[in-house]
Amino acid sequence: MNAKNSIELVDVEKTSKVDIDQKCTSCKKSICCNSINQKIPAPKSKEDFDHLLWQVSHEGINIFKDADGWFLHILTNCSHLLEGGVCGIYKKRPWVCREYDNDFCELDESIEEASEFYFSTHKKLQKYCRKRFKKWDKRFKIYD
Ligand code: SF4
Ligand code: SF4
Repeated sequence: MNAKNSIELVDVEKTSKVDIDQKCTSCKKSICCNSINQKIPAPKSKEDFDHLLWQVSHEGINIFKDADGWFLHILTNCSHLLEGGVCGIYKKRPWVCREYDNDFCELDESIEEASEFYFSTHKKLQKYCRKRFKKWDKRFKIYD
């Protein structure tokens, strides 16, 4: 779940009585239940970015920056998401899920589209680091 979002899904116990929101039905993938965002301190030094390079090298880990700061975007399915986009713990779902407004959600604009920077690979982040730090490729000397 996006830390800034939550989702209005149907109570699994009342699925037959409650209509799934039309927009969420069109989403198909329940995009907002398939990842979490974790805010991180704004990276500043070469060491900071070197650490991010390690993190983004892992499958399912992306890094982005938007108006609210820097985040890890971690692709991971919520274990409570059931077939048809139904939340299995609807009545007890976390607060972040309750606050969600799907008037404008990740279906309308992806995190990547909404971000100032979005790094999905080591290569992309390294390219940014080389622009940001003139002597980026010589940084290993700090560890000698
Ligand atoms: S991304 Fe939007 S449309 Fe898709 S399930 Fe979440 S709230 Fe519904
Ligand atoms: S708890 Fe329910 S609403 Fe929240 S992310 Fe998981 S499936 Fe989605």
